[in-house]
Amino acid sequence: MATEVIGDEAVFYSKAEKYWKDVPPTVDGMLGGYGSISNIDIHGSSKFLQRFLGDGSGKTGTQCALDCGAGIGRITKRLLLPLFKTVDMVDVTNEFLVKARSYLEEDGRRVDNYFCCGLQDFQPQPGRYDLIWIQWVIGHLTDEALVGFLRRCRAGLRPHGMVCIKDNVAHEGVVMDEVDSSVCRDLPALRHVIRQAGFSVVAEERQENFPEEIFQVQMLALR
Ligand code: SAH
Repeated sequence: MATEVIGDEAVFYSKAEKYWKDVPPTVDGMLGGYGSISNIDIHGSSKFLQRFLGDGSGKTGTQCALDCGAGIGRITKRLLLPLFKTVDMVDVTNEFLVKARSYLEEDGRRVDNYFCCGLQDFQPQPGRYDLIWIQWVIGHLTDEALVGFLRRCRAGLRPHGMVCIKDNVAHEGVVMDEVDSSVCRDLPALRHVIRQAGFSVVAEERQENFPEEIFQVQMLALR
């Protein structure tokens, strides 16, 4: 359980907010210096996601997506705006959302809402989203907050809607990162949190071709 390594919750959140305030609003900043893997990342996500989208029965629609922990909109720009009519973004760091307005260029007009809010407090509008994409941010939430957030996401989905989590996974246990104040859960811990939120995992895939020295990155589709 992440709870065992997190310690004081208020400190855990405020330390992370402080960390991100000092990070430059660039792709490199979003990826902790690994800006060069962005293409591979987006390509892997796109391949993973597209099999669920379309008009057929049971397929996930393409009206509106939510990018969670969106930062400057690296994913909104390259993955979500090309596939969805409109996108909303939510992030706790206002400077990133301000930067997004220029970074996204022309297509940024199709971003309906920029919500500046911690996911632990964020309430997606019920029934609004076909897809909720949550990448490289779940480690900033406690187990309890993550379960609560995922439950609210469930209520935020349209019929046949889906949540995707893409994040680092630990080899074993829960690993604390004191620098950015986050945790990295192993897959059993992550699956436990997902089940507690009432979701089932409908697809799971490891991102390939990432550098050897970083955490393994996993994509999970939830319904
Ligand atoms: N998902 C984006 C950004 C990853 S960087 C991408 O892959 O490009 C992590 C992002 O999470 C930063 O933008 C940071 O501001 C945001 N963040 C950190 N803690 C958060 C929290 N509690 N709620 C919402 N966003 C948070």
